[in-house]
Amino acid sequence: MASIRLEGVGKQWGDTTALHDITLDIPSGTFCVLLGPSGCGKSTTLRIVAGLETATSGRVLIDGQDVTALPPARRGIAMVFQNYALFPHLSVAQNIAFGLQVRKVPKDEAARRLDEAAQLLGLSALLDRKPSQLSGGQQQRVALGRALVAQAKVCLMDEPLSNLDARLRQEMRTELRQLQQRLGLTVVYVTHDQAEAMSMADQVVLLNKGRIEQAATPRELYAQP
Ligand code: ADP
Ligand code: ADP
Repeated sequence: MASIRLEGVGKQWGDTTALHDITLDIPSGTFCVLLGPSGCGKSTTLRIVAGLETATSGRVLIDGQDVTALPPARRGIAMVFQNYALFPHLSVAQNIAFGLQVRKVPKDEAARRLDEAAQLLGLSALLDRKPSQLSGGQQQRVALGRALVAQAKVCLMDEPLSNLDARLRQEMRTELRQLQQRLGLTVVYVTHDQAEAMSMADQVVLLNKGRIEQAATPRELYAQP
């Protein structure tokens, strides 16, 4: 389990302010959606939590630990992006286990995690295929599998479903949410799709021009006049 806290996190690009000192608490095991129009600062926020971008001010805490100065690989997080970035010439199994090999996880342990993730994601029968022989939803699952075998407690997702058709997107929303709950993952999920945010989130964080306009549950947002 891992909570996330952003404390007065600001980001400047030259004289453009992408984030105005935002403070945000994401409790452990919850699904937080960052919602807002293009350019409001969603990706910047996510990338700062990941350590892929450096904040100009403030700090990031994961499980109470200040990770502001830690590189991405040492933050105990996994990331899933919009373009799944699968390796086309590697099999599904190799794609999922790739990071484990890089991290020198022992072979039998890697195999165990791979089996577990494949079962959970319904990929067990597809492990020998190449990404090009999979549907969009299956490719998305492979990208998720890669995050799962890393056994990170925090998963950051930037518009992970936006390349899927409407029906599959709907299905994957439900699947993702169930998976997150089953594993007790803390998820930060970026989207500009309001319906998606409302259907998935425990907490919706509405960003506008680099400021948090509102942070509330979908229920609270629906109840507004
Ligand atoms: P969103 O994800 O909500 O679309 P971003 O976080 O990508 O928004 O961008 C927030 C602001 O920061 C925008 O004004 C954007 O133009 C600016 N920005 C993002 N990345 C860079 C960059 N590498 N260099 C300069 N400005 C950037
Ligand atoms: P890993 O060590 O997690 O297997 P790789 O070295 O395979 O990572 O890098 C794959 C891509 O993911 C690179 O573009 C890198 O910038 C990015 N990356 C590396 N570690 C992380 C991380 N913990 N979270 C998010 N992105 C990461």
